[in-house]
Amino acid sequence: MSTPFNPWEMACQQLDLVANKLSLDPNLHAKLRHCKRALIVSVPVIMDNGEIRVFEGYRVQHNVDRGPAKGGIRYHPDVTLDEVKAMAMWMTWKCAVVNIPYGGAKGGVVCDPANMSEREIEKMTRRLTSEIAIIIGPDKDIPAPDVNTNPQVMSWIMDTYSMGVGYSAPGVVTGKPVEMGGSLGRHTATGRGAMLVLQEAMQHRGMKPQDTRVAIQGFGNVGGSFARFLHEWGCRIVAVTDVSGGIFNSSGIDIPALQTHVANHPHRLIAGFEGGDFVGSAEAANRELMTLDVDVLAPCALANQITTDNAAAIKAKIVVEGANGPTTPDADIILNERGVWVLPDILANAGGVTVSYFEWVQDLQSIFWDEDRIDHELTKIMKRGFRDVLAIAEQEKCPMRMAAYMLAVNRVATAVKWRGVYP
Ligand code: GLU
Repeated sequence: MSTPFNPWEMACQQLDLVANKLSLDPNLHAKLRHCKRALIVSVPVIMDNGEIRVFEGYRVQHNVDRGPAKGGIRYHPDVTLDEVKAMAMWMTWKCAVVNIPYGGAKGGVVCDPANMSEREIEKMTRRLTSEIAIIIGPDKDIPAPDVNTNPQVMSWIMDTYSMGVGYSAPGVVTGKPVEMGGSLGRHTATGRGAMLVLQEAMQHRGMKPQDTRVAIQGFGNVGGSFARFLHEWGCRIVAVTDVSGGIFNSSGIDIPALQTHVANHPHRLIAGFEGGDFVGSAEAANRELMTLDVDVLAPCALANQITTDNAAAIKAKIVVEGANGPTTPDADIILNERGVWVLPDILANAGGVTVSYFEWVQDLQSIFWDEDRIDHELTKIMKRGFRDVLAIAEQEKCPMRMAAYMLAVNRVATAVKWRGVYP
């Protein structure tokens, strides 16, 4: 029997590989291999039926040497402390790759929001906020949306935190609605950032959008907006999956129609959409999607999707990682050997945290930017990130993931060195 996937071990393995390549000082390596702080909290909630359920929640800060901790909060039944630690470490590298002044954090609650009422989710969110309030704050650690959390959840976090401190503190959280200190463009930022990185990559390879077939795993915040932007650019989206199954249409899925369908679906799912062949099992649909004959494959859902089980069968020329940690290190080796160009998560999905940074800056200054400025600044940062990583990859003759890690780990390690170890 194979050992179960452990994201924290995967994150450490990735760090070890780059530390080796950089000949990183073992003392700096040791510091970066540990999370600064991990808080485990119990979140008791009086459910609608009067019963008390106690959920387990986490907030982990991996490193704050380059600035306050930053990272999302996810609600999912499979959340574990090790997963949250891994995601916190990945946030440290992600912020460093695009050179925004944050360290890395992540949070999560083990729960199944699909089977909870809105009232239950609100109570859980407010109690979680009050439990982690001792370590979050606009100068300390700024949460944001992640899997199954959204602007409404961010509003409850902001409100609860503000009640505690006695004044409105919009800078405590990003991904808020625009009406209460959120930023224009934040909701679609991760998808837009992934599109910008893919555009640079395709231009570099001389690929034209009209000749490009794309398969996307996940149709939530990231996959949905990524699909929309690529569709508008002229790519053909031939497959989309989510937890309810997958839609396959070799002449191209009508993405705006699918988005309308999902927006009107009671659980925001693609099930029931008629513009393609529907495979009604997520497992079967994902198996088919991963090995489809396409030019671009975009895993935009969860970690551990491209593994040694399917890497050898992937036909895409480019893999763009909208999700965090979708490719295991062993699968990475197989993809590289086969010449598949992987645009790594810490670069490809950094658009979300980048516009989160813009939101935080706007909140702290109480001056708000228009959409053109957001798009312009995001484009500048994503293109610069791509170019910086590509330059290292070409110089070192290494994969883009290794190059992105070299850039990020170097930046963080340099900050650690300047600051020294207290006391
Ligand atoms: N959860 C997103 C990520 O994994 C965004 C984090 C943020 O905006 O702080 O990058």
